[in-house]
Amino acid sequence: MTKINVPVSTPDLSGNEEAYLVDALRSTWISSSGKYVDRFESEFAGLVGTRYASSAANGTVALHLALVALGVGRGDEVIIPAFTYVAVANAVIYTGARLVLVDVDPHTWCMDPTKIEASITSQTRGVIAVHNYGHPCDMDAINKIARSFKLWVMEDAAEAHFATYKGRTAGSLADIATFSFYGNKVITSGEGGALTYNDESLHHRIRMLRSQGMDRTRRYYYPIIGYNYRLTNIACALLCAQLERWKGMVARRNAIFKSYSSRLSPIPGIGLQPVAAWASPSPWLYCITVDESLFDVNRDTLAVRLHDHGIETRPFFVCIHQMPPYQQHGGAESFPVSEQLSRDGMNLPTFHGMTDDTVDQVCAIIEAIHLRGA
Ligand SMILES: *Cc1c(COP(=O)(O)O)cnc(C)c1O
Repeated sequence: MTKINVPVSTPDLSGNEEAYLVDALRSTWISSSGKYVDRFESEFAGLVGTRYASSAANGTVALHLALVALGVGRGDEVIIPAFTYVAVANAVIYTGARLVLVDVDPHTWCMDPTKIEASITSQTRGVIAVHNYGHPCDMDAINKIARSFKLWVMEDAAEAHFATYKGRTAGSLADIATFSFYGNKVITSGEGGALTYNDESLHHRIRMLRSQGMDRTRRYYYPIIGYNYRLTNIACALLCAQLERWKGMVARRNAIFKSYSSRLSPIPGIGLQPVAAWASPSPWLYCITVDESLFDVNRDTLAVRLHDHGIETRPFFVCIHQMPPYQQHGGAESFPVSEQLSRDGMNLPTFHGMTDDTVDQVCAIIEAIHLRGA
């Protein structure tokens, strides 16, 4: 059996990452102020196209910070997709608010805008539109419903760095957006996050809440209860180096996506990620779905076989309502699209340094598994 060792993801740190890291260390600015924090925040706001960007310790606390800054708390309801990463649900629960789930659209794998209205009650405060697997949500439709019910809209763009929706960049399409820079994300600092937005009063609240609630003009005076959700100058040094190369990294990942798609689309039972006409997704982790009746083995068996060949994969998200803390949120409703994706979907290795040969080998092994059958 051919055994090739391929991780599902690995960061590329081959630019100025080391130089900037050493520079940050030698400067002794290793906490959460310093030139790399300022540089990252202004460059990132510029790239996303918002007036402000604030760094945060990771993507999960960025979500929590955004919710608290918007005033979400006990008694409120927040609408999120049933199919997404668990951090979105957890962040809502941290605020004391109630979670309301809606199914995803089979054409985008993101929150289905036509399902939102029926989930709105007098307690609903807002909607978190998660750009699942790099594909932007249908933001015009979501913003329109939200506006008519006076709800805020938040984008979770953790998986959608530099994706565009009708030509506009993810992170600039709603009241506020959050990002993650975890090690497997397109741009990374190991751990890290950010919020992007245009509103000045929101900016002041975010800066206060991020630093224990400290007053803007009176140092060491804390008129509100805040958090320590800051990101370090060391992490921002890495992010500055990553941002210098974002175009090349996205281009390389797009090329990997293209080779995967052309090699895999002829294989019976392998489904590809749909792309809406108005979307230019971020090439995060390459996605496939496995239809057992045509492919001959199911998703889980394919994952085991690929693992035997040294190829690491990742199953799609388990639906929020399928996990113990959130089972009661499923209620009487069902989320058939979410459940099918969760059962049949998987991510294949995707990273900057992945060669065309390796993509070819992974695809050849998937094809061979199909031909050999169960
Ligand atoms: C990665 C991710 C997060 C959480 O980010 P962390 O930096 O790991 O806390 C939140 N939402 C989505 C959709 C993600 O993929």
